[in-house]
Amino acid sequence: MNVPQILTNATPWTLDHDHAVHPWVNFGAFERDGSLVLTRGEGCHVWDAAGTRYFDAIGGMWCTNVGLGRAEMAQAMADQAMKLAYTNYFCDVTSDTTALLAGKLAALAPGDLNRVFFTTGGSTAVETAIRTVAYYHHCKGNPQKTGIVARENSYHGSTYLTQSVGKRNGDRVEEFRYQSEGIYHLSSPYLYRRPAHLTEAQFCDQLIAEFEALIAREGADRIGGFIAEPIQASGGIIVPPAGYLQRMWEVCQRHDILFIADEVVTSFGRLGHWFASWDEFGVMPDMIATAKGLTSGYVPLGALLLSDRIWAVMAEGGQRWFTTGFTYSGHPVSCAVALKNIEIMEREDLLGNAARVGAYFETRLAELSALPLVGDVRGRKLMLCVESVADKESKALLPDEANESKRISATAEAMGLMVRPLGHLNVMSPALTITEGQVDFVVETLGKAIARVTDDLVREGYR
Ligand code: PMP
Repeated sequence: MNVPQILTNATPWTLDHDHAVHPWVNFGAFERDGSLVLTRGEGCHVWDAAGTRYFDAIGGMWCTNVGLGRAEMAQAMADQAMKLAYTNYFCDVTSDTTALLAGKLAALAPGDLNRVFFTTGGSTAVETAIRTVAYYHHCKGNPQKTGIVARENSYHGSTYLTQSVGKRNGDRVEEFRYQSEGIYHLSSPYLYRRPAHLTEAQFCDQLIAEFEALIAREGADRIGGFIAEPIQASGGIIVPPAGYLQRMWEVCQRHDILFIADEVVTSFGRLGHWFASWDEFGVMPDMIATAKGLTSGYVPLGALLLSDRIWAVMAEGGQRWFTTGFTYSGHPVSCAVALKNIEIMEREDLLGNAARVGAYFETRLAELSALPLVGDVRGRKLMLCVESVADKESKALLPDEANESKRISATAEAMGLMVRPLGHLNVMSPALTITEGQVDFVVETLGKAIARVTDDLVREGYR
């Protein structure tokens, strides 16, 4: 490699530290600490620049579903790049590979979700869904039916619009003036932190009533769409109460409110299904946004699946341009990788493995709830977390300065395990290839890390 003279004394760490601006970073902390530089990955493992191996229980960013280092994924990329690296996808041009993937996704998707709009990732898929709500209702003669209902603790992406729609309670966003007009936030279905006097069923009733009251107050003619992650992911691995999603869907159907499932995390095997909405929760969305596991993170790609019903309305009433799309929509190389990714999942029955080993993971992780610091262990299959508390009875959180989840992750990392710190949680979403033996390693190492940090917190007077 021809390294510029000025860089010869530089290392990847210093180059990153001095020149890179990372997403979602505390700039002050970055200035101080820099990044962990990774250089290699294989299966569930990654290696850093010093050659230290880690078990990546985070799965990259919920995305390395078939695992790293697969030669046939690289080959699919190379073959497509040689055959046709790029084609304009606007208007009426496509590649054969892109068309094949559209057909494959329609076949895998539930119900009549037979139309695919390709995007560059999750944010752009959700953004497109929100535009589709407005376009669809406009075509039906209801141009004012554009309001979007979302929930607290949701994350739908990082563009201005998707940040406005999402609302993670821990994010401090006063620097940005996110949009609020026509965007409504309902309570999160956070079972663990529901009001203490309510049963699960009563809590569910309350959440449904809140949605009904919002519609009554604002008018069904002004609310066009409801968006939900089937399990809220980075808002805290929040699995909703039994029946909640089905009942929200039922309310949506009654008021012609389009149900958008944000399955950027929950699709492509994380919960043991291609898509979780129908197979795990019995809900048939009008649109599904997907990304991440669609290519297992090898290349960027997202997609919005639309129902035939929506397509029919837009095709009949859509005499105006649908002015949405990206230079890399339907990118042939990304689509080739997605096709190979799906082929691997099918051939190796990785969905079956995720379901089987995921169930084992749930059972084993539950053992950690015996630890004094652990208030809750929750999630499903390969989407799990532990939540730390100061006091199990009151569920009170430790003060932010205790920084316990970061310390747990750092302690685990020193023992060769990566788990993601997120607020007061430590989150896991490993590759679908994970084995029971690897689950044992993750649970035992995480348990040791939590115990060690607990001792330190006691010594420091936090507990
Ligand atoms: N929706 C959900 C549920 C997500 O978790 C994410 C990313 N973590 C996104 C949307 C945004 O996806 P991307 O980062 O690919 O734009």
